[in-house]
Amino acid sequence: MKIGVLALQGAVAEHIRSVELAGGVGVAVKRTEQLAEIDGLIIPGGESTTIGKLMRKYSFIEALREFHEQGKPLFGTCAGLIVLANRLEGGEEAHLGLMNMTVARNAFGRQRESFETDLPVKGIETPLRAVFIRAPLIKEVGAEVEVLSTYDGEIVTARQGNLLASSYHPELTDDYRLHGLFLDMARKAAEAAPKAK
Ligand code: GLN
Repeated sequence: MKIGVLALQGAVAEHIRSVELAGGVGVAVKRTEQLAEIDGLIIPGGESTTIGKLMRKYSFIEALREFHEQGKPLFGTCAGLIVLANRLEGGEEAHLGLMNMTVARNAFGRQRESFETDLPVKGIETPLRAVFIRAPLIKEVGAEVEVLSTYDGEIVTARQGNLLASSYHPELTDDYRLHGLFLDMARKAAEAAPKAK
């Protein structure tokens, strides 16, 4: 499976490394034309306002909505999760708006600005090593969204069909199992929609 990592801003190289550890091929995606060559796309952590601005500038909003329509999976981590959401707390404009959830940015406050924890995640056998950095939280989800994990009673991993989102950075440790889960999603999507190549 060829997995792209949106390379406009943020933690790109780390995601490519995790994709490869999980057995996929990782590519940095800078132009919309590259979307045709990949089986799934990761939107990395970074700064969501900046990523959103660059996505508009380089026509990624429409292109990724179409990518999603084709049934190809998207995985948003941290700022990438914010980019996927259809509602942001505080009235800020949504970016891709594909995932039915309300997200609060920088939701942990200053004392817990960044920390690591072992997080139980549905579909992953033992707790996943997760790094939270000025992380967002999912405050509310629609009925079609499956909650995969919570931390302190708050939602931090969720899935809606071919959309996967984590509040934390799964690419900053050697624990690549969430990338493995995403590769499985990409594999199934590719089987369901075989392309004439
Ligand atoms: N706080 C950032 C934002 O709101 C996200 C932080 C991250 O991706 N580590 O965009």
